[in-house]
Amino acid sequence: MNPVEIIKLKRNGNALSRDQIKYLIEGYLDGNVTEYQMSAFLMAVYFNNMNEDETFYLTEIMLNSGTVLDLSHIKNPKVDKHSTGGVGDKTSLILAPLVASCGIYVPMISGRGLGHTGGTLDKLESITGFNVNYEIEDFKRILETVGLVMLGQTSELAPADKRIYALRDVTATVESIPLITSSIMSKKLAEGADALVFDVKIGVGANLPDKDESIQLAKKLISTSKKFGKKAIAVLSDMEQPLGMKIGNWLEIEECIEMMNGKLIPDLYKLTNVLAGAMLYLGDAAGSIEEGEKIALQKISDKSAYKKFLEMVEIQNGDVSYVKDWANLKRPEFSKLIKAEQDGFISEMHASDFGYAAIELGCGRKKTDDKIDYLAGIILHKKCGNEIRKGDVICELFSDDKLRIDIAEKRLEQSIKISKIKPKVNPLIIDILD
Ligand code: URA
Repeated sequence: MNPVEIIKLKRNGNALSRDQIKYLIEGYLDGNVTEYQMSAFLMAVYFNNMNEDETFYLTEIMLNSGTVLDLSHIKNPKVDKHSTGGVGDKTSLILAPLVASCGIYVPMISGRGLGHTGGTLDKLESITGFNVNYEIEDFKRILETVGLVMLGQTSELAPADKRIYALRDVTATVESIPLITSSIMSKKLAEGADALVFDVKIGVGANLPDKDESIQLAKKLISTSKKFGKKAIAVLSDMEQPLGMKIGNWLEIEECIEMMNGKLIPDLYKLTNVLAGAMLYLGDAAGSIEEGEKIALQKISDKSAYKKFLEMVEIQNGDVSYVKDWANLKRPEFSKLIKAEQDGFISEMHASDFGYAAIELGCGRKKTDDKIDYLAGIILHKKCGNEIRKGDVICELFSDDKLRIDIAEKRLEQSIKISKIKPKVNPLIIDILD
């Protein structure tokens, strides 16, 4: 086979065979297909899509590029959740310990910040000492000991995704349904879960801002899971405005701890509870999502989720005393209040602008080697639909660098809209597909 011929077939809109896709992916990993050929192929997929079979073959080949974990010796159900990415989306940090406290094992492989969206690994690393890099044997040991593990993709699990994802990030080929599907699914299938819950974001802060495309992605994630014999549910959730009241690595951990200690932040609580309900239902710990939601609320109220979270922090080498000190608000040196310039109602808090402003403050990277300011971030005092008076605080920006606060403030200038009449706010849970 010749890579140029295969790229040309895709460029011209043809469907590829399993062998052709295998040749390209394996060739890329062993150096016979170059970076520029893989980039051209990804762009051809971006423009011409892939059908159901091609998406399945691509997922299977990426999955088998590394080790596929066999967790069948663990008798408890194993369920994981994956979000397509959002701003202020910290649900994994509550969900994993919550669901594990119900006896469902959660082997969770997460990512770092990408584009304007935050990453679970960066948030976890804001806890002093917390380790997200383990080899497979330690991954299994931690999972077996505490019932959950949260770590980054090792070089052994779906290495094809690791390389192709990095290439997509710099070749403007992230927003493609078959590429997102195969990327998410190859990682999730490699980690050995029996069932998967997907949180597919819709809105300006999602990585596929078009609503119909997000619905197609949700359907593709479910159909691909089923082809691999996994039960799956997709929750379509709103990402027009940030989720919860805090954005930034430690700030998001802090908000999760607040919630696990009983402060129910309405949108964060609602989404976490629905996702937990779906995970418990798929893990046979509840007869329906609604019943799972009731169990989840109980596990937050009796602090079982928080206790499990502390167990995870401890076993993954995090400083438990740093976490327990959460109410002693850790903040960077500089901060600035953003106030309303008129009376009215908040009608828009543009999620991706908030994500980019958070990066300016130091929460994320612009280059791979940028250092993160773990305490930097944004605290929202208002959300869409809230009534506001001139001079009320809308949000507060935090950073160790005063200049960064000015830049972030500028970034948000056009991102918060105030209307005279009460706006219609999108429902948080748009749909649930299974
Ligand atoms: N998350 C992933 O793991 N991959 C994608 O392509 C998008 C979101």
